[in-house]
Amino acid sequence: MSATTETATALPRLPDGPRQLLIDGDFVDAADGATMPCYNPATGEIQTQVAVAGAEDVDRAVRVARHAFEEGPWRDFTPSARARVLWRLADLIEEHTDELALTESLDNGKPLAEARGDLGFAAEVFRYYAGAATRIDGRTVTPSLPGPWHAYTRREPLGVVGQIIPWNFPLMIASWKIAPALATGNTVVLKPAEQTPLSALRLGELFLEAGLPAGVLNVLNGVGSVTGAAIAAHDGVDKVAFTGSAETGRQILKAAMGNLKKVSLELGGKSPNIVFSDANLEAATSTAAAAIFSHMGEVCIAGSRLYVQHDVFDDVVNGVADAARSLRIGAGVVPDTQIGPLVSDEQLRRVTGYIDHALANGARALAGGGRRGDRGYFVEPTVLVDVEPNARVVREEIFGPVLVARPFEDPAELAREANDTRYGLAAGVWTSDLAKAHRVAAELRAGMVFVNTWGAIDPTLPFGGYKESGWGRELGPDALDLYTETKTVVVAL
Ligand code: ADP
Ligand code: MG
Repeated sequence: MSATTETATALPRLPDGPRQLLIDGDFVDAADGATMPCYNPATGEIQTQVAVAGAEDVDRAVRVARHAFEEGPWRDFTPSARARVLWRLADLIEEHTDELALTESLDNGKPLAEARGDLGFAAEVFRYYAGAATRIDGRTVTPSLPGPWHAYTRREPLGVVGQIIPWNFPLMIASWKIAPALATGNTVVLKPAEQTPLSALRLGELFLEAGLPAGVLNVLNGVGSVTGAAIAAHDGVDKVAFTGSAETGRQILKAAMGNLKKVSLELGGKSPNIVFSDANLEAATSTAAAAIFSHMGEVCIAGSRLYVQHDVFDDVVNGVADAARSLRIGAGVVPDTQIGPLVSDEQLRRVTGYIDHALANGARALAGGGRRGDRGYFVEPTVLVDVEPNARVVREEIFGPVLVARPFEDPAELAREANDTRYGLAAGVWTSDLAKAHRVAAELRAGMVFVNTWGAIDPTLPFGGYKESGWGRELGPDALDLYTETKTVVVAL
């Protein structure tokens, strides 16, 4: 089965939707009229043109967001009124699931079923923070200073928040950022990734329908080095929240230095998945495959390093390789596709570059090993063995369907090897020994540890990384801290 034959058959068209910039409640062209093409990753063809914001548009959006924060109707929205907007938006996402999933699948390449899953999760995130909006409380505090006092804390919004999101989960990661920011009363300038701007623009339109006042959420497509950099550097922005590569995270930090805006970062990972021989090996094997091949491995918490106890190494790794070979590759909008194309030509070259480098340096591919077809950006699910701990494919985030697998003998040494990475986003442990599971979970330097599962994320569960995987935690109550200041009020009685 070749991707080329499949994509040649008639496929659904890209739904209509806004292609301009959302500023102050209106869709407008960029000040300089600039646009850029949006590609279909399954074919490499241009499917539409989208406006590109320049520094002037960013400046206007930031001023509009400031006005909406300080003087617009938004400041008079009660927490309950903010909650209602978020809840209505969640309902609208569900009403428009077919259209939004198709847009997301055609823009990003991901299988339709995965796009639908993302949307369901996004709706739940908006509902979770709708619930949180009326539960943002301070504390009463009793100081030990002499005399009678009344002291308390208030949680207040930061103001104008810049949010820069990646191309792997365009609408879902937008929800992780927009929902807590609006629940706490901030206003937002959101920049989707230039590879996948379409669903965020449509989301902005749905927000207007949900009753969000003009200027509270502004959506600007644009390239990172211009639009993203202008948001990160702007003195009128109080906080920037970013999800993307560690390299870009560093640039955002530098840009944020000028006005010392708050920064939260959700960066990369090279997450170890550890299988002990006493685990349920069937579940461990199929989940190890899903942990790296879902969403084509373009996932920050992909389980990209597999460590298997030596006596079951061959069984588990051959099982993962069998699973890799059985996955159906095709355009995301073709029913039954399990592996869509990568998002872009750049990503295709990046991922195949890593595979080629590994194979040229002694690694062996038990499955996959390169590009599939010559049209679109398809890469075969790949399982690499015979890789050294310091190989590039073991150390660097590939962000594609490429697994590296290594056996381990000494469980005591294992945590050291698993932790031998600049990243610390997620980790997995497979064992039927409960004590061992908790012991290893405590030793792993990662923001999330999955025991006998992988990728179990939920609006209630804090998400984020140790070390170079980021700053701060999204989702759960923790995200409310990212979007509020604490004010202490002390009253002498
Ligand atoms: P990739 O290189 O795979 O596209 P990035 O981390 O560079 O991943 O991109 C994630 C998001 O960051 C995108 O929205 C992108 O436009 C944006 N971005 C890229 N470079 C910068 C930058 N220098 N400043 C701000 N945002 C940026
Ligand atoms: Mg980049």
